Amino acid sequence: MPEVVFPLDSQKSFTEQQLVGHNRWHPDIPAQVHVKPGDTFRVHCREWFDGAIHNDDSADDILHAPLAGVHVLSGPISVQGVQPGDLLIVDILDVGPIPQEDSGPLAGQGWGYTGVFATSNGGGFLTEQFPDAYKVIWDFRGGVATSRHVPGVAFTGIVHPGLMGTAPSHELLGRWNAREQALIDTDPQRVPPLALPPLPDSAILGTLSGDDYTRVAAEAARTAPPRENGGNQDIKNLTRGSRVFYPVFVDGANLSMGDLHFSQGDGEITFCGAIEMGGFMDLHVDVIKGGMDTYGVSENAVFMPGRTDPQYSEWLAFSGTSVTLGGEQRYLDSHLSYQRACLHAIDYLQKFGYSAIQAYMILGAAPIEGRLSGVVDIPNSCSTVYLPTEIFDFDVRPGKNGPHQVDPGMGVPRSAG
Ligand code: ZN
Repeated sequence: MPEVVFPLDSQKSFTEQQLVGHNRWHPDIPAQVHVKPGDTFRVHCREWFDGAIHNDDSADDILHAPLAGVHVLSGPISVQGVQPGDLLIVDILDVGPIPQEDSGPLAGQGWGYTGVFATSNGGGFLTEQFPDAYKVIWDFRGGVATSRHVPGVAFTGIVHPGLMGTAPSHELLGRWNAREQALIDTDPQRVPPLALPPLPDSAILGTLSGDDYTRVAAEAARTAPPRENGGNQDIKNLTRGSRVFYPVFVDGANLSMGDLHFSQGDGEITFCGAIEMGGFMDLHVDVIKGGMDTYGVSENAVFMPGRTDPQYSEWLAFSGTSVTLGGEQRYLDSHLSYQRACLHAIDYLQKFGYSAIQAYMILGAAPIEGRLSGVVDIPNSCSTVYLPTEIFDFDVRPGKNGPHQVDPGMGVPRSAG
């Protein structure tokens, strides 16, 4: 086993650990770990809400999820000799759930969860159809996820970090804050908000204290969006065997990671999110000096996905176009057409006895494929969502005998509030 350079004790909260990570992006958050190009090491990662979500049959913890405190990230990890303009090579040698106990109180100990936020607390991709908070618990066994809340499905996970990235420079951070604030200013009262500005409340900034903490907490970027540094890209294929090339903006690169997922569908449409869990990552780092210029990777990560996808070979695909549910024509809006494709799949699965929220949870958590199938045929874009038919323990294809009826069981817990 590689040396654990960022350990987490399951009995303690994120801020009580031997090394305290961070939940904001800022160049002045000091590196907690120092490695060299060519090093291999292990990092523990806490589930993104630091243990606030429980293995039970209530969604009240999702309703009251501490959003100001996300994402708890392990790092920063400084790589010796790496400088702005370089490309940092990160190999994901292994990634998995928490290795200690088989099952325990923390997500990642044999189980994980998928949530849907209430509209007032961030919402999700289909928040108009699903305005309340919901939660599904998934159990892990032999690399396969099943749920007492969604009977009739079992799928192999593609474990991956939802979030990994390098620290921004002061200049880049300034650009993020300016452009995101400009967007917020177009509709400051919107629910859910258009973007999340810096928020000192609940900021965890590693070893910073005093005046430095106060200054950085007021400037540091939130971790929700993906940006030029990688960040919360939520790419389901960033699994074991992947190699990522991150642009470097500060000395040492200051790499951080977290938000591990046991599995996720393309788009992470439920927002809270994929199958969330804590776990470990084994990483190998190296550098391409001056690689940003050499390869034209000016401002975004490049990656080579791993080759350990589950073997699903048969799919049932649903398409959608850029027409609203109310019948209004929009111009090549791929976000809308992907929503329509997903709603189409949800309508279909309900014919088999699932509730709408059960179907939504399947699309968020299972390894569904989402595609921008057409983006030029004015005025309609065409998006598609592919369901692997083998994840269902019944025949989910259309046929002459009509849909098999699944027993919906206890269903998906919904918040009382
Ligand atoms: Zn996540």
